[in-house]
Amino acid sequence: MLDMTPKDIQERTALRINPAKTCQPIGAMYASLGIHNCLPHSHGSQGCCSYHRSHLTRHFKEPVVASTSSFTEGAAVFGGAPNLRQSLKTIFQVYKPDIIAVHTTCLSETIGDDIPSIVRKAEEDGLIPDGKFVIHANTPSYVGSNVTGFSNMVKAMVDYLATRELKPDSEINIIPGYVDPADMREIKRMLGELNVTGTVFPDTSDVLDTPMTGSYEMFPKGGVTIDRLMKTGSGKATIALGAFASEAGAQALETKCGVPFRVLDLPIGINATDQFVKSVLQITGEQRPSPSMIDDRGRVLDMMTDMQHYLYGKRVAIFGDPDQVISMTDFLVSAGMRPVYVITGTPGKRFEERIKRILGDDAPNCVVRASADLFYLHQLIRNESVDLMVGNTYGKYISRAEDIPLVRFGFPILDRVGHGFFPTFGYQGAMCLLTNIVNTLLDRVDRDSAEERFELVM
Ligand code: SF4
Repeated sequence: MLDMTPKDIQERTALRINPAKTCQPIGAMYASLGIHNCLPHSHGSQGCCSYHRSHLTRHFKEPVVASTSSFTEGAAVFGGAPNLRQSLKTIFQVYKPDIIAVHTTCLSETIGDDIPSIVRKAEEDGLIPDGKFVIHANTPSYVGSNVTGFSNMVKAMVDYLATRELKPDSEINIIPGYVDPADMREIKRMLGELNVTGTVFPDTSDVLDTPMTGSYEMFPKGGVTIDRLMKTGSGKATIALGAFASEAGAQALETKCGVPFRVLDLPIGINATDQFVKSVLQITGEQRPSPSMIDDRGRVLDMMTDMQHYLYGKRVAIFGDPDQVISMTDFLVSAGMRPVYVITGTPGKRFEERIKRILGDDAPNCVVRASADLFYLHQLIRNESVDLMVGNTYGKYISRAEDIPLVRFGFPILDRVGHGFFPTFGYQGAMCLLTNIVNTLLDRVDRDSAEERFELVM
């Protein structure tokens, strides 16, 4: 399928081919689903909303609910205010959420709809019932990426809802980043192990990984409550996991309510998880991780030592959303692998700086690029191949064309199952990742072995 990709690399600034990102509203919709009893609302045409819902549904293998302002030609010319007013009225009457989280699309952004004014007028006109909330984030998809949209919606949660109460709260806030429900659940599990209470927001665990009960719940039991979101303003501190997805929300919380924050890499792998655990302990004054956590850490170390000969020196291409790619690069370097191409579609100089700091002098020829695309990655690989690719489903075309194994990681994963249930975070997540990576490499060894070298034991 990609046989015609040329080896000759031309500098491109105005053209993306096979983007290594997706559009802003998808991230905003995903973040909104992490609020309990929230209906995400797409202010634009139906096509955008259908695409965003289906993309999330295909990744999580769960029905994703969202409403739309359903723009037609009239709204495109005269603006979408009447559509949004009607939507708010109908949604609260029919579906009865506690909160509606509105995000925009390219069309409504280009028209220039002033969402706060429209919502204010709707409130004055009694379209928003008492005790119900409407928040919004601007998510024009011609800038940024799905990660930017997630970040904007998290910031909107703070801007609209966080309040500083007289009595400070003893809980810490954790903004988990644009990660799967299993990782949000793992953060809460680790906090429990550390004997710490905290508010994870947004929190899509028990929203997009709900157990089968035999009855459909439009608003599942999970998600951070509005009450807890309000109390984030009185929290002890905020830990923002992943600068690209989470820093803006933490910064807004400090500006609005004076809650100090620190930004950490996503806790993927031993280094980043150690940093996370240390930070939680420092902020809360707890003394030590639990014995079971120390055991988990030891098990990861043991696995890394046992598997060293499978991993050492393997050339790897890593691509996807920036926070995930940063932490994965750090993890793979610590496991002895050699990243040679590290790519994200999301813009931001910080990405390149951070990756170069992680690599240090170990990989001077590694190509590191933000705002890049998968066409570029394929060209790089055609010039000099790799042993392994680590990234989302869109890499499968390159994987097939160049016969390189692909470990699926990040968002979206549209052609495999289970990723929403197994963490990549923490020491247990590191064990899942290592298992996946090493088994993928071993599968390749088996496949490529000549008859006389095909071994039972590896
Ligand atoms: S028009 Fe914009 S918001 Fe809608 S699907 Fe396309 S990129 Fe996304």
